[in-house]
Amino acid sequence: MSWESTELYYRRINEGVKAKLGGLHSAKIAMVSVDFQEIEALQHAEKWKRAGELLGQAAQKVEAAGADFLVICTNTMHKVALQIEQAIHIPILHLADATARHIKQKGMKTVGLLGTNFTMEQDFYKGRLIEKHGLKVITPALEDRQMVHRIIYEELCLGVVKDDSRAAYLRIIDDLTIQGAEGVIEGCTEITMLQLQERTDIPLFDTTTIHAQEAVFLALVI
Ligand code: GLU
Repeated sequence: MSWESTELYYRRINEGVKAKLGGLHSAKIAMVSVDFQEIEALQHAEKWKRAGELLGQAAQKVEAAGADFLVICTNTMHKVALQIEQAIHIPILHLADATARHIKQKGMKTVGLLGTNFTMEQDFYKGRLIEKHGLKVITPALEDRQMVHRIIYEELCLGVVKDDSRAAYLRIIDDLTIQGAEGVIEGCTEITMLQLQERTDIPLFDTTTIHAQEAVFLALVI
């Protein structure tokens, strides 16, 4: 979620399977797509337990459809990953872990993080990168965090891509590297819509693509 990024996941997973298997091969996917308006209202009302219940029910449907593992297609809702995990018997491919693996493969230790306020500020994501993976994580100052958050919900999740917003993100990415970031995590699955990597030499970690690639690897290789 939003469906704007679900569409990207669907495409990238299928492209990944096609690249590996060739021909007419495509991914076997059991997908439950939620009504994001309901989820967003619960997020901003801090009703995480209810949001976790809804996603847990959605995950049960995915499991019942035969999935071997679950991909939660949003960074933010990993806040309730534990609750979802407890509702099912199949493993979750955690997005922060997948991202941390890519960062460490590149030999980096200090990264900037962009995403929703929930992702940039709370332990379920930023804390996991620091404590579980030993990374140093730099986030923008308050005013910039608010702008990054607003652009996600008021533009990107609605499919709106604006030049001004792209310029603002690029300026913030530059600021993060001035503070010591070796690369920057696009820690929201819609940020990839801004196509920032084509416009900067700073290494960016596109969580949508990373998660989709790891899902393909897990499905086909492991
Ligand atoms: N897709 C976004 C993320 O990766 C934000 C929308 C949401 O709250 O799920 O965090």
